[in-house]
Amino acid sequence: MSATLAELPSDCHCHNNQEHFLERAFRGLELSDTHRELLLQSFCEITVQIPLRKRDGTLRSYPGYRVQHNHARGPFKGGLRYHPNVDLGEIRALAQLMTWKTALVDIPFGGAKGGIAVDPFTLDNEELETLTKRFTQKLSPLIGEHHDIPAPDMNTGPQVMAWIFEEYSKSHGYTPAVVTGKPLELGGAEGRLEATGYGVAAVTLKAAADISLNPTNAAAVVQGFGNVGSHAALRLAENGVRIIAISDVGGAVFNEKGIDVKAAAAHVAETGSLQDFPDCETLSNEELLTLPCDILVPAALEATINCDNADNIKAALVVEAANMPVTHTADHTLRDRGIVVVPDILANAGGVIGSYFEWAQNIQRFPWEKTLFLSRLEQLLLRCYRQVNDAARDSNVDMRTAAYEIAVARVSRAIELRGF
Ligand code: NAD
Repeated sequence: MSATLAELPSDCHCHNNQEHFLERAFRGLELSDTHRELLLQSFCEITVQIPLRKRDGTLRSYPGYRVQHNHARGPFKGGLRYHPNVDLGEIRALAQLMTWKTALVDIPFGGAKGGIAVDPFTLDNEELETLTKRFTQKLSPLIGEHHDIPAPDMNTGPQVMAWIFEEYSKSHGYTPAVVTGKPLELGGAEGRLEATGYGVAAVTLKAAADISLNPTNAAAVVQGFGNVGSHAALRLAENGVRIIAISDVGGAVFNEKGIDVKAAAAHVAETGSLQDFPDCETLSNEELLTLPCDILVPAALEATINCDNADNIKAALVVEAANMPVTHTADHTLRDRGIVVVPDILANAGGVIGSYFEWAQNIQRFPWEKTLFLSRLEQLLLRCYRQVNDAARDSNVDMRTAAYEIAVARVSRAIELRGF
């Protein structure tokens, strides 16, 4: 079960963490206070209430959010998450993160994020469709293929995107490019489903090589076995990495000799969770994070590596597949302990790169083949990895600070040129 905010360690408030990371970049770039403020403010923030009559007759109202942070470099872009802990502060921080991420990988988008504070597992499919379509009606004046383009995030996927596309198209005509991460039959792109995890694995293998870790001798632990975590684990395993533990919200499974990741994915597809997956010991998510391993890939929620457990992380390399999984205090601790952290805005950017490719194909009505999609994605991401690594080495800073400096400088320059 996910923790409530009151139960979280003191450094787990994600908006504070982001401010700390940004502060390091702002200092490096010597930005004025006014400039900083301009970069931090959201362009638009909305909160809506979405009423839903449930099948048992009860009436519920769920808060929904969309934050558009910055569009100096292109239309707002960012996912929608359905989770009971979603609130405006979290969505605001995640929207900002998207601005820096799209700038870092140099694609023509700004940053946004949205979501509904709901546990989707308490709703049936029809209730989820109604909730999503009502949310879309409320977002309709804000989103659009050249304005703001939502995508999947935690607990949303191709089906939710299909409902948004349908609802939006009722009032705006056929508009597949209004969302990305759609089913293939509705203009989704071959490769988009695995894009984030595929990119995470590509960056992990490169970062591992840079610290002289041979994939075939490396053991990895992956927290979260949803879209990102499962595809990252599958791809790492294909490249010879031994995946010794994986987890979902219900707990972790561990096998020192290596888990058959394909079989685990099939088990989850069939049963809905990792529970009872054979030939493994069970562990808690907390125990999983502190297992001895070479590579740790947090691919679930934010702030999972925090002041309570950073001292006990035993990996040599942490790759942030989730958004903001390492708090600023934990980031400090990991750095002091010589653990390399590949930051989220680089590590999981394969998702938004894939979304960009899907959007471009939709706008042009010209689909690409999957091999072209994945090879372009890997090329773009690894070029970006090299830029960040070179900048970190040249300025003698960590990869996160280097990545933020590159991204913030690009957004700042775009604002200057456009004369906002
Ligand atoms: P998902 O809903 O497909 O999967 C989430 C996984 O995390 C599930 O296995 C779930 O059981 C597990 N989980 C949930 N709560 C947990 C907890 N308290 N402890 C351990 N595991 C828990 O979501 P996703 O799309 O894979 O997204 C995962 C992360 O990656 C999020 O931080 C998201 O913002 C980020 N991300 C996703 C994409 C994308 O394309 N989907 C792109 C970039 C970043």
